[in-house]
Formats: sequence, structure tokens, C-alpha cells
Amino acid sequence: MKNIELSRIFAQIAEILKIKEENPFKIRAYEKVALILENLPVDIETIYRQGGLNNIPGVGESIAQKIEEYLTTGKISYYEELKASVPAGVIELLDIPEVGPKTAKLLYEQLNIDSLEKLEEVVRQQRVRNLPGMGEKSENNILRGIELYKRQKERFLLGRALPLAEEIIGSLSKLKEVDKINYAGSLRRKKETIGDIDILVTSQKPERIMQTFVSLPQVREVLAEGPTKSSVLTREDIHVDVRVVEPRSFGAALQYFTGSKAHNIKLRELAVRRGLKINEYGVFETKTGERIAGEEEEEVYRILDLSFIPPELREDRGEIEAAQQNRLPQLVESSQIKGDLHLHTKWSDGAHTIRQMAEEAKKKGYDYLAITDHSQSLKFAGGLTEERLKEQIEEVKKLDQELEGITLLAGIEVDIKSDGSLDFSDEILSRLDIVIAAIHSGFKQESKVLTERIVKAMQNKFVHIIAHPTGRLLGYREPYQLDMERIIEVAADTRTILELNAQPERLDLSDVYCRRAKEQGVQLSIGTDAHSREGLAVMELGVATARRGWLEEKDVVNTLPLAKLIERLKNK
Ligand SMILES: [Zn+2]
Ligand SMILES: [Zn+2]
Repeated sequence: MKNIELSRIFAQIAEILKIKEENPFKIRAYEKVALILENLPVDIETIYRQGGLNNIPGVGESIAQKIEEYLTTGKISYYEELKASVPAGVIELLDIPEVGPKTAKLLYEQLNIDSLEKLEEVVRQQRVRNLPGMGEKSENNILRGIELYKRQKERFLLGRALPLAEEIIGSLSKLKEVDKINYAGSLRRKKETIGDIDILVTSQKPERIMQTFVSLPQVREVLAEGPTKSSVLTREDIHVDVRVVEPRSFGAALQYFTGSKAHNIKLRELAVRRGLKINEYGVFETKTGERIAGEEEEEVYRILDLSFIPPELREDRGEIEAAQQNRLPQLVESSQIKGDLHLHTKWSDGAHTIRQMAEEAKKKGYDYLAITDHSQSLKFAGGLTEERLKEQIEEVKKLDQELEGITLLAGIEVDIKSDGSLDFSDEILSRLDIVIAAIHSGFKQESKVLTERIVKAMQNKFVHIIAHPTGRLLGYREPYQLDMERIIEVAADTRTILELNAQPERLDLSDVYCRRAKEQGVQLSIGTDAHSREGLAVMELGVATARRGWLEEKDVVNTLPLAKLIERLKNK
């Protein structure tokens, strides 16, 4: 996680230096290190602890010092000073996709733009297109950039918010004064990005909970401290609320604060028709005001004659109707996952050996693991040549013999080149147990061209899975302009599996497309795309997204026992 944070800081340093028209070599050095950190497969903190910062290409003494400063203090003073030397609003402009330092400088100098609001205004007045070097197209791009930026600004990745919430709950649970505790909100619904974290507690001694909460080490600033509700900002700028509720209201409050709003509105309508009232305190008879439920969340649903709706489904996407008819899906669970089908090792850009990855997978209780390094055209990622791949297949076979309790599958993440051809011949692909294909370049091609690249790959009988199909990077890159209906249709026709990539910034396919794929009879594979042992842990996020996409055990191929999985792959 810190890799990306640091990469963004260095990229921003480079951009500010550009605004200030400083030495191009210095600027280039920061840009280079930003790119290296972004693609570094190993956690920067691990490297720092092992004293290896100076071994990272592009990291000299001065940059190493800044990395160390950030890892030990959470700040880089040079960066803070630099930021202070330019109007704050101009720096914010740099966070908008499509606004680089040149544009920011131009906007500031010519139109005195030093805030997002002012920029929005002049874009809407179509005044940007007349600036030197700009035009209608660049103006539209900026407008799209502003929209993307606004949507993502206040949101954090599930992969970042979930561990934080679990840490806080872990600390508070140690207090003997805590009875029940849970997080609610979009986090409990496991949305891919989260606004803030809401935690609910029951306790006889609320003061003690509040004191402990506001003095946790994760807290940077206390926004409000009250007898039953407190709010803080964490070091990562995530807003966390803790609320103490009465035991007899805990279930109702949990239901209420979990949302979504649309789901709750529909529930309240159902209740009204039955002469009931539901709120965060309980379920009440409208006429008499008598409380009839509220302690347990299940009761709220039972009273409305609904089966219990898992939080991940509460989006008003048909789950209430399904609960009325007792036909809710039996959602896939982490414990049903029998292996990981997408990961990288030292053979390409991963941090660990095949053996290390296999041992870690064994610890997770997996039965099988597919080794899927990059193919030759991804040179920056250490992609395997034909020769190296052949060697790796031998190595995988050998290790598979040696290792007890886990089966290794020889695979590849073969690149789909810009003309739609694959990076290896069918002859090579036919030697592998599993082939996943993916796009890693040419994202800006026209929709038709991009779609046909993937379609062509799916029509190859040796390609089993399409990895991270839409290419989105949350808060960073929009999905490719693909015709997903066509892709799902061809996947169904060719029996190609679509991946749900579990990387926190990908979660690709999204919940909505997962469900669409399932409806069309397409199966999914949840893969971590791990580049290190630790990376295997994000499977949990993939399963959460699968559940939001209504997926059941039968929809996910890596819940299959080994023999069945091999059969499924063979009869694509
Ligand atoms: Zn990939
Ligand atoms: Zn990959």
C-alpha cells in the first residue's frame, strides 16, 4: 500500500517542479522513481526493514532519505515545503486526470484558476478551448476528468478500509465493557470503495468505549467526542464514527446503518403496509407504538416475512423480491475456495519463488495453485520467453512431484497484443494446464477494436480465462471502452471463464458484470493476481465482490475439486 502512496507523492513532486520550471533532470528523476515504485512488486516497508532501499533502481541517497522519512514519520518535509510554495488550489488541479502541470500552469496564469470550482465554471463556459494549445477535445477531456475526480475523492478502497475497521474493532473488543460490536454501512455491504466507517457497539459503560476509541494509535484528529457517539479522522484520512446503542436496539441499528438507502426505503414501505414502523431503534406497531423487535437484525427481516438478506445484497437490485419468494442465492463463501488461479513469481515480476508461493497456498488450505507469470512482450514485467516458459513448465512439474498436499498447475498470463493475436503460439499454449489471457496495452483503442481483441482471444481453444477483463483501476483509470454484452455473450458461446481479479484497486469484473455474466451462464474464476506471498490474502475481497454479484459456489470455478476443475478446463 505504501508503494502507491509514495509513488503518488514523487509523481506530484515532479509535477510541482514542472510548474516551477525547475531542472528537467531532477524532474525526470522523480518521475522515474514514481513509476518504479508503482510497479514494484515488493512492499517498500519490507525492503526498508531489510536495508535494501539503495538497491531499487532509480533510488539514490536523497530519494532513499525521503522514503525513510515517510515510512518513519508519515511525512516528507521537502514535499510539504514544495506544496506550500504553490497556491494550494493549483496543486489540487494536478489530481484531476487530464490536467497535467502544463495545463495547470496555463489555467492559473491565463484565467487565474486556483480551485476545482473555478475550473468547473470556466469549462462549462467553454472558455478553456480558446487557450493556446487547447481545443474542444481537451476541454471535454478535462470535464470528464473533473467528474471522475469528484466521484472518487471522498472514497477509499475496500482493501484499505476493511483492515482498518477490523483493527479498530479488534482493539475495542478487548475491553470487557464491550458486549456486541460490528461495523455497518457500505463497508459491511463490501462495496469496492467506502465513504466512511461506522461502528456500532453495545455497552453498559459507553464513556470507557469512547475514551479508548479517541485515543487509539490510528487516530490523527478527534472531530467530535460525546457520551454515545464520537468521530475521528485516522492517519489515512478515513472518517470513523463509533456509536453506542442500547442492547434492545442493536439489531435494528445495525440493519438501519448498514443500508443501502434504497434497500431501507423499500423495507420501510413494506412495513407501513403491515401497520409497522421500522427505524434505528426497533420495529414498532404504528397504532400502539409497541416495540415488537430490534435486538437481533434477523428479526427485522423475519417480521416482514423475508428470509435474512446478506448485507452484500442490500442494494435494491431485486433482493427484497427474492427474499419474499424464498429464492435468495446461496452466496459463495471464502471457505469454498479451493485454489488460486492467477499469480506471479520471481520468474517474472513476483517477489517470491514458486515453492514459497506454494507453501503459502498450503497454509491457506488450498488444494491447487496455478503459476501464471507474464509472457514475453511484457518486458518491463520480466515476461517469459518461449524458452524460459518451457523451463518453467519443467520446474513446476518437478516441484509438483516434491510438494505434498498441493497440486501445481503450469500456466501463463499470456498477453493479448494490440492486433488481437496472442504472445505465444498455440503449440506452446497447448502444453500448459491453464492459460489466462489479458490486455496490458493499447487501452485507448476504439471500443470495437478492443472488444474484438478479447473476442479473438476467447475464440482460441487454448485460452481458458480472460484476466481483469475491463482493466479498470479504481480512482485511477476508467474501464476500457468495451462492449461487455458482446464479451459476455462470446464467453458463454466459447465456454471461456471470466476472471474476477481480487486486487483491491481492480475488483474486475465488477459486481454488476459478475451478475450479468452469471445470468448468461458464464462462470467466473476469482484470482488474486498476487505478486508476493502476502498478495494471496486479497482473495477475501474477491469473494466479497462475487457475493455482491449474487455468485454462488457453482458460478466460481476455483471452488471445484481438482479433478473437476481440470475437466472443466479441458472441455472449454
Ligand atoms: Zn495482468
Ligand atoms: Zn497478473
